[in-house]
Amino acid sequence: MPLELITIPCLSDNYAFLLVNAKGEAALIDAPEAAPINAVLAARGLTLTAILLTHHHWDHVEGLDGLSPAPRTIGAKADAHRLPPLSETVQDGDRLTVLGEEVVIYDVSGHTRGHIAFHFPASGYVFTGDSLMAFGCGRLFEGSPEEMFQSLRKLAALPADTLVCSGHEYTTANGEFAAAAFPNDSAIMARCAETARLRAAGQPSVPSSLALENATNPFLRAADVASFAKLRAEKDVF
Ligand code: ZN
Ligand code: FE
Repeated sequence: MPLELITIPCLSDNYAFLLVNAKGEAALIDAPEAAPINAVLAARGLTLTAILLTHHHWDHVEGLDGLSPAPRTIGAKADAHRLPPLSETVQDGDRLTVLGEEVVIYDVSGHTRGHIAFHFPASGYVFTGDSLMAFGCGRLFEGSPEEMFQSLRKLAALPADTLVCSGHEYTTANGEFAAAAFPNDSAIMARCAETARLRAAGQPSVPSSLALENATNPFLRAADVASFAKLRAEKDVF
């Protein structure tokens, strides 16, 4: 049975995610804000067994202080000096077990150096933080276009039915850029309409399927580093 995914809106536009197994044990991916996470844990009577951190930005770690300590806190070895204290450090290609399931670590640097993604192949989730985002990708704060392009390539190659759990509700704005960049693209237009419907109904547009990202995300569709870099620069000033 796949792990259950709970998407938790935090702060103004962040998401935290809980994965839950049949024993009521939970793993948290990113900790933007403690209160909404604690509320779900309490309402469901879940035991938090692990916290997985994608990158060091404050809006992904600041909630940690308000959570009851988990037995495991996992983050990138390359980022350990600026992440909260970790019990396990990981790097690209590492495999570990969380909630009884295998997790594969991908280095997806670009937004920050040392940004990682967590892939749960058996349940079909990938937690991408601010690297691959719904209908877009994170800004290049520390990495080069080349680094982000290669990071996105790795994620694009995962199974098409993988659910992409990214860190923010930015899909509407990302869609406005995609529609401006590719005005006659029916797949992009359809996704903009679907995003508007979800948001009007008060529902998150995250997670999204990797198949949908590969079909509509301008940054995943970029054929080479140069076209990726041009798109990313255009988005920065859009
Ligand atoms: Zn970030
Ligand atoms: Fe963020």
